[in-house]
Amino acid sequence: MKHLKVDPIKEGTVIDHIPANRALQVINIINPDKEDIVTVGINFSSKKFGRKDIVKIEGRELSPTVVNSIALVAPHANVIIIRDYEVVNKRLVQIPDEIYKSVICGNPKCVSNAEQMDTHFITVSRNPVMLRCHYCERVFHIDELRVE
Ligand SMILES: [Zn+2]
Repeated sequence: MKHLKVDPIKEGTVIDHIPANRALQVINIINPDKEDIVTVGINFSSKKFGRKDIVKIEGRELSPTVVNSIALVAPHANVIIIRDYEVVNKRLVQIPDEIYKSVICGNPKCVSNAEQMDTHFITVSRNPVMLRCHYCERVFHIDELRVE
């Protein structure tokens, strides 16, 4: 656990290799409960990426939907599940081929913004992250979209 540069936790999730300064976006996506203990590390040095952020959330294992959303803003993140101080699962996030609900269309005239409906995006590129709205068919760079 030394390489995580954060104190070990008994139970919970560590998200490592978040691009520098994206930690707050990741926390927005996780949307912690009032009682959740969240630790944020910003601008750690990383051999692979130069600088990185780390987010640690105690007592909670993230759902696959949340992990998929994190992939959109942190495509190389590592999600580490910890139980009783042991790493029980460690995996790279992966952007799914299709994304439902978690992304808001950047086109103000899109029907998905006008109606109460779930959004639906198709991944057209992972590097850079480009998504196409199923409804208005416009293609967006991830930075043009709001991820929740
Ligand atoms: Zn749209």
